[in-house]
Amino acid sequence: MKDTFDLLMKTDFPAIRRAGLETLQVNLGYLCNQQCLHCHVDASPRRTEIMTAETIADVVNFIKRQNIKTLDLTGGAPEMNPAFFSLVKQARDLGVHVIDRCNLTILLEEGYQQTAAFLAENLVEVVASMPCYLQENVDAQRGKGVFDQSIDGLRLLNRHGYGINEKLKLNLVFNPQGIDLPPSQNQLEPMYKKELSERYGISFNQLYTITNMPIKRFGSTLISKGQFDKYMQTLKSSYTKENLSGVMCRTMLSVDWLGYVYDCDFNQMLDLNVGAKARSASSSNSGKTHLNDLLNDDLQGEEIAIMDHCYGCTAGNGSSCGGALN
Ligand code: SF4
Ligand code: SF4
Repeated sequence: MKDTFDLLMKTDFPAIRRAGLETLQVNLGYLCNQQCLHCHVDASPRRTEIMTAETIADVVNFIKRQNIKTLDLTGGAPEMNPAFFSLVKQARDLGVHVIDRCNLTILLEEGYQQTAAFLAENLVEVVASMPCYLQENVDAQRGKGVFDQSIDGLRLLNRHGYGINEKLKLNLVFNPQGIDLPPSQNQLEPMYKKELSERYGISFNQLYTITNMPIKRFGSTLISKGQFDKYMQTLKSSYTKENLSGVMCRTMLSVDWLGYVYDCDFNQMLDLNVGAKARSASSSNSGKTHLNDLLNDDLQGEEIAIMDHCYGCTAGNGSSCGGALN
């Protein structure tokens, strides 16, 4: 795979600082029941890297010490970490809002069929990738048969009240298949709602449109096809200043399966350490900053580590884990 890191290092992206820390996004490991071609962490059923119970205890401790409001769980399939269920319960007991980034198909797998009920009982918000409401497009991006299983997963969530009961939020994620920016979220969402309702009887709350980042597998594909420069030009020429105040790194930290900390999930994928102050806190462990290094730090106002991929967050309507920014 061709790495885009060196191409992104030199940047004129404006400096940004953390406004405050509200959300902890935690990658529970690379184990997954699927093996999607586009997966940016190369997750698969054979991966063995998952967050240990000890590191999960560090996460809970950090949530308490830093008064975290939202815990956002990713993977792999986060539900496949055996400690997923106890982590969710502990966070909920602390009054923390929990988000599960769910691939939908895991809900139907043997051994995980109680997961949907558990999520509903604990009022966990579900965010699920659904790149299209057409079968051929989803199967092309995520693998043959994934569309039908995803529809079954959505129906199961609806049966538990997701997308219907106002306390059970079910949000879907769209990302473009080519090198275009996502279409308007406000225009695409009603189309998704109409098509998924009429074709399959499915209800959901919001559609999040997310811009593809020029890193990892997508970045490598851009290079292979000779489209990297063109894509960067698209991102930069669509820079929208108003989006800068809403980029997700201003209110979140991203944590990898070993407990190391990054300014966002994309920086985690690039192995780009957190900004200045946190970086100095980590001098004892080979340049990497662990959650335990930041227990007493006030990260408000701290510098965020940026490179040219950051233009992916500010282009057009903007992009974040919660969809468009304007
Ligand atoms: S479901 Fe998600 S985490 Fe799993 S392989 Fe596919 S993209 Fe990767
Ligand atoms: S890529 Fe990460 S660090 Fe850069 S603007 Fe987006 S969220 Fe912030």
